Amino acid sequence: MEPCNTPACQSARELFHELEEYYDEHNLYFQTIGSVLEAANLLDVPHRVKLILTQPKNEIMFHLPVQMDDGSWQLFKGYRVQHNNVLGPYKGGIRYHPEVKLDEVKSLALLMTMKCALARLPFGGAKGALKVDPRAISRAELMRVTRRLTAALGSNIGPDYDIPAPDVGTNAQIMAWMADTYINFAESSTKVTARGVVTGKPLEFGGSAGREKATGQGLVFVLEELLPGMGMQVEGATFSLIGYGNVGSWTGRLLQARGSKLMTVMDHTGAIQNPDGIDADALSDYVKQHGGVQGYPAAKAISTEQFYATEVDLFIPAALEQMVDLEHATHMRCKILVEGANAPTTPHAERHLLDKGVTILPAILCNAGGVTVSYFEWKQNRQSETWDESEVDARLRKVMAASAQRALDMGKRLNCSLRLASYAAAIEHLNKVYEMRGVFP
Ligand code: NAD
Repeated sequence: MEPCNTPACQSARELFHELEEYYDEHNLYFQTIGSVLEAANLLDVPHRVKLILTQPKNEIMFHLPVQMDDGSWQLFKGYRVQHNNVLGPYKGGIRYHPEVKLDEVKSLALLMTMKCALARLPFGGAKGALKVDPRAISRAELMRVTRRLTAALGSNIGPDYDIPAPDVGTNAQIMAWMADTYINFAESSTKVTARGVVTGKPLEFGGSAGREKATGQGLVFVLEELLPGMGMQVEGATFSLIGYGNVGSWTGRLLQARGSKLMTVMDHTGAIQNPDGIDADALSDYVKQHGGVQGYPAAKAISTEQFYATEVDLFIPAALEQMVDLEHATHMRCKILVEGANAPTTPHAERHLLDKGVTILPAILCNAGGVTVSYFEWKQNRQSETWDESEVDARLRKVMAASAQRALDMGKRLNCSLRLASYAAAIEHLNKVYEMRGVFP
């Protein structure tokens, strides 16, 4: 096969050669860093900054022995990748999924660096993952696995060093177990602030109002900021969702509350459609009870092909990576692709969609609401304060609107796509901080 000759591939290949790193052009990390470097090349960024961003600072891998309820033992593989901390402590979710791989975690950690920089949060980027199917083990096993994971991470996490949060397959309960385990190991003089080691905790235990819905809420704020300039409104827009977990279901419910209409949904159990609209609140209750959208009575089951081909204004992937590939993109009929999930679009699909005139709103802009309210939670924990939901929402709207404007302005300045513009706005900020701090020693 011909080597890939896009600016992104060329940029990544050059740096990987210099670092004498093995690469595969189909690998998610190679593709993600390729886009980031392509954006960096549109700016006057010193080579050393590109070199630093090309690889994470730390990649931690561990194996956790845990006894199961039946007395048998299982060994769980886990990762924590700390990509960059020039802006502040590492920050990023922990994922529980049976098919996690190191390069996927590296990509997600890199995207966190970019996301925090675009939103001007005082955090760096990290991501963690544990190879486990949380639906396939008991609650007691899930707690033991989580406590063992937290102990294994040890001093690699901390409220001033690296702060995990929920991601795919993890939730507020898992964050509560992580915080409790960490507090048990903490020095008595730091126990008060130790719960700030994780965000996305339950409200009763140091969580923030508005954190659970934050990623969906942030996405809606970005749409409210950007759609009018594209000749559209949230009210009256039709949309599709991939994924009906935290990000998907909150996005669905909040968009519906503003007058948008949910047409189709696909998750790991199947795809459903209703031309008159699907009630996002009723579907959320159904998914909580049944574990997925399949069988929801007020919609008909459709095939994966029909799902992607449904005509909508907004197509919103909010599940796993790379779920919009070239094959799917050729069938898609939407005006705007709104990336709720991280890295949901392959480079080939992206090129095809841009050529078709579809606007792509990138993940580091659209789904930054989660990490932004995580920052608010961390701040409240440090100051022993409790903000109400209206205060959290008002602050979140301000951050999301400013990020959207930053991306738009950079897009105009560089005459490039919003993905490259968002990366460029993030890199310009990182570069300024490197200029001020210098690179040690
Ligand atoms: P979640 O575990 O709550 O939900 C994941 C969803 O993906 C579920 O509805 C599941 O059915 C669906 N899914 C899994 N495999 C699928 C498949 N093969 N086909 C179709 N659907 C499938 O996870 P989440 O927290 O909602 O995260 C979703 C995405 O958003 C991820 O990319 C995550 O990194 C990103 N994200 C999450 C947050 C957050 O605050 N939770 C913040 C920023 C970004």
